[in-house]
Amino acid sequence: MTEQWGFYFDAEKCIGCHACTVACRVRNDVEADGPKWRRIVHAENGTFPDYEQVSVSIACMHCEDPPCRTVCPTGAIEKRNEDGIVVVNQDKCIGCHYCAWSCPYGAPKFDDNNKMQKCHLCLGEGGGDGYGSPPKAKEEDGGTKPACVDNCVGGALKAGPMDELTKEVTDSAVNQATQRKGNIIIEAGGPTVTFESESD
Ligand code: SF4
Ligand code: SF4
Ligand code: SF4
Repeated sequence: MTEQWGFYFDAEKCIGCHACTVACRVRNDVEADGPKWRRIVHAENGTFPDYEQVSVSIACMHCEDPPCRTVCPTGAIEKRNEDGIVVVNQDKCIGCHYCAWSCPYGAPKFDDNNKMQKCHLCLGEGGGDGYGSPPKAKEEDGGTKPACVDNCVGGALKAGPMDELTKEVTDSAVNQATQRKGNIIIEAGGPTVTFESESD
């Protein structure tokens, strides 16, 4: 694989405002009550009385070895060689939901036609868009920021090639991301997050 793109999230900068989740819906033309490609989960940090609840913004992790791809019976899910982004070819999707059951992060969602859709790192607009697209371009190469990153009020979200994101963060955060094999970095000082599987 040439490059692996992923997300960076800093819980200390997130104010839980949902600007990222709304921006994702607008960019990808998802109805207000439609599937949540990006969502805010609430995590606990510390022990009483030194305890807080924090917001964590998550979407598809574009996993290193995606279980959703392994279980898909039709080959509808591709991990792109050029940037590691995991995309769905909706023409091949038969709506069996195997991917949703296998994903530890609750990322696959389904539209009215029972076709899988999820975060494609803003390769295009709409579910399934991005399959077969050209490589994701960095901003300095004329690319645009993902909508969730662009609209994050607190500057808590970033996206880009993992080797660039990891330059900016602590070793501990990089180790956490590596252990999970999901391509998201949650900055240390933030919570220990247990992701709950969720599908709707
Ligand atoms: S987070 Fe879920 S949907 Fe995304 S690549 Fe991993 S297993 Fe697939
Ligand atoms: S719902 Fe679609 S993408 Fe998911 S496993 Fe079934 S065929 Fe593959
Ligand atoms: S990168 Fe784009 S598609 Fe993915 S969560 Fe952010 S706004 Fe949504």
